[in-house]
Amino acid sequence: MFDAGGLLVINSINQQKPQMQNASQRNNANYGDDNAKVEQLQNMIKQMQKQLDEKQTRIDDLLRKNNQLSKDKNNLSQKLQDQQQQCKCQKQQSKQEPVPQQPKETPKQQAPKIEEKKEESDDDEDTGAVVQRKRVMIQRGFTAADISKIKFKDYIESADGQQTLCLICNSKFTENQKYLDLQCTHKFHKKCIEAWFMRERKCPSCPRVYDLLELI
Ligand SMILES: [Zn+2]
Ligand SMILES: [Zn+2]
Ligand SMILES: [Zn+2]
Repeated sequence: MFDAGGLLVINSINQQKPQMQNASQRNNANYGDDNAKVEQLQNMIKQMQKQLDEKQTRIDDLLRKNNQLSKDKNNLSQKLQDQQQQCKCQKQQSKQEPVPQQPKETPKQQAPKIEEKKEESDDDEDTGAVVQRKRVMIQRGFTAADISKIKFKDYIESADGQQTLCLICNSKFTENQKYLDLQCTHKFHKKCIEAWFMRERKCPSCPRVYDLLELI
């Protein structure tokens, strides 16, 4: 303590005190800066959170609208289907009527003759509309090659159900005669249904439409 070296040491300690205080003040200042930064970051996070919430709200909105739109779309396509169904029904009904309305006691082969006459009279009219209609009708039926693949059954009276008359020509099935037993339960002579299928793919007696695969 009494030598110059000791004084120097004390002096140096005394001199260090303010320096340490300065350092801790600096540290406090640094903490203050950090706190400000943390606050700033927290504010930024809050801001971003708010933006996220807004975006989420917008997304929810859009999802709701999207749902509504797809519901509308489904409704519309359902309506379209219904309308198409109705169109088919009307077409089928108008086409169907001539066959079921034939009286049961019609002589054999009258129905095909009427159809042939119709076609002849169509030939007399030489308008584009008729040609167009014929083309559509040709496309509607099966091809001769397809029809040749159709599987027919041999009619056996005892094994058959209620239907004993062909619904096209209104005449009886006879034993071992080739006939077609459609999945809609309607039955027809081979010759009768072959002629029909050249023009249509539906059952002559009901709206059921057939794919070739169901007939072979
Ligand atoms: Zn119908
Ligand atoms: Zn028949
Ligand atoms: Zn049928």
